[in-house]
Amino acid sequence: AHLDRIEATDGTTGAWLAMMADEALDTAADVDRRRAAGEALGALAGIPVAVKDVMCTNGTTTTAGSRMLETFVPPYDATVVARLRAADAVLLGKTNMDEFAMGSSTENSAYKVCHNPWDTDTTPGGSSGGSAAAVAAYQAPIATGTDTGGSIRQPAAVTGTVGIKPTYGRASRYGLIAFASSLDQAGTFGRTVRDATLGLEVMCGHDPKDSTSIPDPMTSYVDALDRGVEGLRVGVVTEFMGDGASDGVKAAVQHAIDRLSSLGAEIVEVSLPHADYGLPAYYLIAPSEASANLSRYDGVRYGLRVDGETTHEMMAATRAAGFGAEVKRRIMIGTHALSAGYFDAYYGQAQKVRTLIIRDFEAAFDKADVLVGPTCPTAAFKLGDKTADPLAMYLNDVFAVPASLAGMPAMSLPVGFDTAEDGGPLPVGLQLVGPMLGEAVMVQAAAALE
Ligand code: GLN
Repeated sequence: AHLDRIEATDGTTGAWLAMMADEALDTAADVDRRRAAGEALGALAGIPVAVKDVMCTNGTTTTAGSRMLETFVPPYDATVVARLRAADAVLLGKTNMDEFAMGSSTENSAYKVCHNPWDTDTTPGGSSGGSAAAVAAYQAPIATGTDTGGSIRQPAAVTGTVGIKPTYGRASRYGLIAFASSLDQAGTFGRTVRDATLGLEVMCGHDPKDSTSIPDPMTSYVDALDRGVEGLRVGVVTEFMGDGASDGVKAAVQHAIDRLSSLGAEIVEVSLPHADYGLPAYYLIAPSEASANLSRYDGVRYGLRVDGETTHEMMAATRAAGFGAEVKRRIMIGTHALSAGYFDAYYGQAQKVRTLIIRDFEAAFDKADVLVGPTCPTAAFKLGDKTADPLAMYLNDVFAVPASLAGMPAMSLPVGFDTAEDGGPLPVGLQLVGPMLGEAVMVQAAAALE
């Protein structure tokens, strides 16, 4: 049914880059057979899942939305993909995304435009826009994403879906095409908190193949969903409720906060005084790490090769042809910020700001069990609106990047509509941030609002 739905609707959505239809039908048939035989089945038995095209899938192209990897077929699965398969999930295919996960609208995909199912003139957010659009369009109940500076939460917010990023190190990065290694984290989308949480719980856990993977044992996230918010301290982040967000966004977020209060939560005010510096710090740290990670695309080992007279010419021609404009912009910013003479002023300074932001969060979590605010400054924006202005595009991440820099678990929950937007009411996301390894309390608070 989901494959039929994709076939019928993806002409207008553009959420998919590659289908795994035969494999999906085989897996589904196998699950049916094993169920009939009374065999034990995994937690996601028979559940269709969409996989962001940044995650390696054994035998299926994994492009990261880039021409550079157009023909790249990984010989192995990312750990998070392997865990989904081991839980008997039915993988439907690979979803559209901004090239190398750089962007906030999926307009940097080298392959096709992705449309927001709520209003096809608007973007589904990014970089995991294909996954968000697929879930919003009922093409898949669960999708995977990656979030480096908001790429799960922001698309979830603008497509009216639930998107969860766990604590940095909780989900393995093994087999994810790297963007910024100290920030990249895998997570999930769903139409309900329960669906997204179920998928997340399967994907998370220690992985010896990722040196930054957290060895602590898992707690159940699903078990926390019905606990309610009685007595829970919910911290409203002052800096996120100021002028940065539109009136429509703030009204929907305030309404959700009022509901948490009426459900028995204690609402407290918290401050992240350095949050304002999150965006500039992020846009130095992420491109710096990206410039190093992307040096591997040299025409020798992976994907595209454009011939040249010398090795140097071959590499230059390959990188000129294989990378899109935004990726080249990030490589240039990153190499500049890391270069001798500028390192201390840019990258070193950004890392110090990062430490201040971590301390802000630690202080906030002394006062609150979970933090809330808007996920994005506005509801979905129009396709083409920000493509000519990279800074306007970056500004969309302003509320998302602090939690990424601090490594905290964070999510977006649909909490209403911005009725002031022209073009009709569009979904608004409430961002919830949990303390380190506090995924359970975060989804508990979110589930109470559904
Ligand atoms: N929009 C942000 C960027 O372009 C975040 C992307 C992401 O989280 N992968 O870097």
